[in-house]
Amino acid sequence: MVRVAVVKYPDIRQRTKKALDLIGGIERVVGKGDRVFIKPNLVDGAPFVTGEVVQLETMEVLVQESFNAGASEVLIGETPTYKKPTDTIRSYERLAERLGARFLDLSEHPYVKVKVEDPVLFDEVKLSKPLLDSDVFIDVPTLKTHCQCGITVAIKNMYGLIPPEDRRYYHAIDRVEEAIIDLYKARSPDLILVDGTYTTFHIGPRPLTDFKETFRLDLTLAGFDPVAVDTVSARLLGIEPSTLRFLRWAEEKDLGTGNIDEIEVIGTPFEEAYYGKAVDMVDFVNARTRHSRILNFGACTGCLRLAVEVLRVCDPISRDRKFVYVMGPNVNEEELRKHVKPDETVILCGYCAAPTFYNNLEGHFVPGCPPEPEMLSVKLKEILYGNHID
Ligand code: SF4
Repeated sequence: MVRVAVVKYPDIRQRTKKALDLIGGIERVVGKGDRVFIKPNLVDGAPFVTGEVVQLETMEVLVQESFNAGASEVLIGETPTYKKPTDTIRSYERLAERLGARFLDLSEHPYVKVKVEDPVLFDEVKLSKPLLDSDVFIDVPTLKTHCQCGITVAIKNMYGLIPPEDRRYYHAIDRVEEAIIDLYKARSPDLILVDGTYTTFHIGPRPLTDFKETFRLDLTLAGFDPVAVDTVSARLLGIEPSTLRFLRWAEEKDLGTGNIDEIEVIGTPFEEAYYGKAVDMVDFVNARTRHSRILNFGACTGCLRLAVEVLRVCDPISRDRKFVYVMGPNVNEEELRKHVKPDETVILCGYCAAPTFYNNLEGHFVPGCPPEPEMLSVKLKEILYGNHID
């Protein structure tokens, strides 16, 4: 049985300490003289109230506990996605100084090539040298839903340990889910502690006024198995873990178990910690588009990541027409009739929604499993302007 600690409590310090105690204390991984590397999610250096970044109190407990367990050095590191340090980053720098730790902007340090055995896609990746030179690696993500991966918790947090150009490259070739598994295989953390003080939806930097999906949860999770931690995290946010491709791949690559019968949640009972259905990429996009809607019938993240294309590319060029993008394996004719309005044009996305003899679906079709995102706008232009592209 794999154990994942879940603690719901308003005080962040006490909650973090309790979660560590439940899994046997930080001493299980930190010993005398160890150099400890802690990777918080500090994406964009966003303000703490957005829920985008790990709360300072969580980091304070982890640093103190590491020193109490005998660590000789504690490093806190992240490859920044911000152009210059924000107030949040300055708070981290001050905290590190006060506690005798060091805060590292990893882009100012070397990255080292690491071979990946049995990768999903990348047989070589680059990781931060200070991380690789450390004895203990503690992965400290937040508890968020995400525009490409479905959730960003334990496994996705690896993305902050690579060179900025690699981040851009994996995004540009649309292989983020593959990359995070191979990065995790290259250097797996020894301990995962999730700061779920808030949950939010991550899609990149945005103004404070746009954070309508941030909610206070007062949760902390801790564990050693990234697949189990991400599975419990997804379930707490009402996201079906089997729709997350990267999590399936992680299990296939023996990074851990997503089998709920093999995971024991200790601490706060799951039902008490359960948030309900968090805003996912479909909800986020549907709340912001004027001409487009997505109907999701159980799609996996392969098709769900098309939502970003709908928001950023398709919706602005839709003219005065209304479009509904349909995806997922559970769609059928009856359901579609129920949900589609007379003035909407249907675009079926991916082979799961393919028009077949069995499902009798009608509409324009974008093939693929998953379809390439840009094929959505190609199809849309074809419908709007009638220029057929072979
Ligand atoms: S078509 Fe492929 S990518 Fe899309 S929902 Fe189905 S299985 Fe997932």
